[in-house]
Amino acid sequence: QAKAAGRNMVCFFDPKIQAAALARAMLEAELRQGLSRGEFLLYYQPQLDSEGAVTGVEALVRWRHPQRGMVSPAEFIPAAEDTGLILPLGRWILEEACAQLVRLAGGPVGQDLHMSVNVSALQFRQPGFVADVLAVLASSGADPRRLKIELTESLLVEDIESAIDKIQLLKRHGVCFSLDDFGTGYSSLSYLKRLPLDQLKIDQSFVHNLLLDARDLAIVNAIMALGQAMGIAVIAEGVETQAQRELLGRCGCTSFQGYLFSRPLSSEQLHAFLSPH
Ligand code: C2E
Ligand code: MG
Ligand code: MG
Ligand code: MG
Repeated sequence: QAKAAGRNMVCFFDPKIQAAALARAMLEAELRQGLSRGEFLLYYQPQLDSEGAVTGVEALVRWRHPQRGMVSPAEFIPAAEDTGLILPLGRWILEEACAQLVRLAGGPVGQDLHMSVNVSALQFRQPGFVADVLAVLASSGADPRRLKIELTESLLVEDIESAIDKIQLLKRHGVCFSLDDFGTGYSSLSYLKRLPLDQLKIDQSFVHNLLLDARDLAIVNAIMALGQAMGIAVIAEGVETQAQRELLGRCGCTSFQGYLFSRPLSSEQLHAFLSPH
């Protein structure tokens, strides 16, 4: 059959590859459609200090798929990155998060809240990234000092010079930066030294077994010491139990995010969570 298809044609006869390619193509078409139909929405997970006061929220994107229901970002963010659809999606996420910041600023504790927004490598690497963020801030009227951008280590390693430039430019406007999933990527300490970061986010994989694995405890202590020595705040993510919360506190951690305090909340749930009762 391959011969009949012609000498210069590449044929895939592996049904597994074909099925995967088809599934990816369908996902891409659905993502595109989802964007134009407004099927995406943001959830918000509170971040708390040692006293239990909410200091910020992290925006986490969700896809309300007409047939499949709520789809988790782990399933569609990689495809959105591969296809470039993360660019319009990422822009929408920034706009929505900034609009929410403005709505929160009118509320009882809203004035002091930070909004953390995850930014993908492809999005951050766009030459117009800084201008885009500033444009969204300006048109929404959100206070740049309330916006915190979460980056991952792998993203910074690829072009450290331009990453530093972009971070510095936005920091001049008051925007903060957090390094997400810290400890799981590829960045070296010399990169960390040069990056003007405001926050390190201890990856949840280190928090998960904190009470059972002395190596995880050692890593958390090392990150705390690093943050302290470099003047960078540290937050722990994926905190699920009071025991983890207490042990993190004994390590010197004063900022927390996780199911122990709250799951990611819809906009309505967030406003209820923040209202005094
Ligand atoms: P992330 O930025 O590290 O977000 C933390 C993830 O951990 C979220 O999953 C959150 O719901 C989950 N989580 C929070 N607390 C706990 C806990 O106590 N226990 C456990 N087991 N999990 C907890 P989610 O929302 O499914 O997001 C997964 C990843 O998808 C995010 O990891 C982030 O890398 C990406 N993502 C989510 N939203 C966005 C977005 O708006 N833009 C981009 N570029 N990526 C996003
Ligand atoms: Mg994050
Ligand atoms: Mg994370
Ligand atoms: Mg993660």
